Amino acid sequence: MSRDQYTFTNPVELYADIQPQKQHMREPGLDADLTPKADLGEESYRGTGRLTGRKALITGGDSGIGAATAIAFAREGADVAISYLPEEEEDASRIAGILREAGATVATIPGDLRDPEYCRTLVAEAVAALGGLDILVNNGGKQVFQESLTDVTDEQFDDTFKTNVYAMFWITKAALPHLPAGSTIINTTSIQAYSPSDILVDYASTKSTINAFTKGLAQQLAPKGIRVNAVAPGPIWTPLQPSDGQPQEKIAQFGQDTPLGRMGQPAELAPAYVFLASPESSYVLGETLNVNGGMPTP
Ligand code: NAD
Ligand code: MG
Repeated sequence: MSRDQYTFTNPVELYADIQPQKQHMREPGLDADLTPKADLGEESYRGTGRLTGRKALITGGDSGIGAATAIAFAREGADVAISYLPEEEEDASRIAGILREAGATVATIPGDLRDPEYCRTLVAEAVAALGGLDILVNNGGKQVFQESLTDVTDEQFDDTFKTNVYAMFWITKAALPHLPAGSTIINTTSIQAYSPSDILVDYASTKSTINAFTKGLAQQLAPKGIRVNAVAPGPIWTPLQPSDGQPQEKIAQFGQDTPLGRMGQPAELAPAYVFLASPESSYVLGETLNVNGGMPTP
């Protein structure tokens, strides 16, 4: 490995070679088709045993932030189950291969997060495959922009809330009886929770809901020794964005309005999830860790 996540680097120049390009994909989009390729840390993430023996379930673990997190978790010593849509099998099997190379036990469990039965089965299958569960990452998400609220169909509103909010509720509820003290739950929220875009009203609303869910549940589960936190990404290069997450003209400037002046890569998110998953963050609860290139947050 020439560079890893500990290599001293100027964050302005890091990933300057990965410039966003206009391209349209059909939702949910594939990492395999993303041009240029995102960095999931395949070549760079170096584990140091921070999650040895842990058992993690990550939704949306086939691509983007979830895949980078899965790679980091496996290299830190965890076994990993990933959830994704059946049409994402190509991405999921590539990631599963990387996790197995790291020595992890891996479960790939495709299905639709909008379906409560799938969410419950997902937890049961992950528990069976890994022999338990002590890390849950609710990361799968849907983002479709609309210029006007009148263009947000009831179906889109429903799908966005089902995928981003209801699935988090269904999965967390099903997971709780399995989580021993010391377990951690990490929810992927967004800068959109604080600074909603005019064209992402439904999506942004789900993300502020996730923040409230995280902070409320963190207090409820603290006495049981289960910590709940969130990670709030800024503009990150993943298939979510070119598959109607943003208009094409915004894709070309994606991330340029951050203080760092560039978009982020999924590999830059993974260490935040590792920190919150690992016992080193034992006194961190109900926190939202912003990884957004420097945009101010409350
Ligand atoms: P991504 O497309 O790589 O990951 C999202 C995943 O969600 C997909 O891979 C898919 O497996 C899953 N998913 C979507 N709908 C589903 C459904 N109905 N059933 C099952 N799985 C479904 O994109 P990403 O950007 O890595 O997204 C991960 C999380 O990060 C999402 O919650 C997203 O809202 C959040 N986020 C992303 C950005 C960004 O700029 N990319 C910024 C802030 C927050
Ligand atoms: Mg995907």
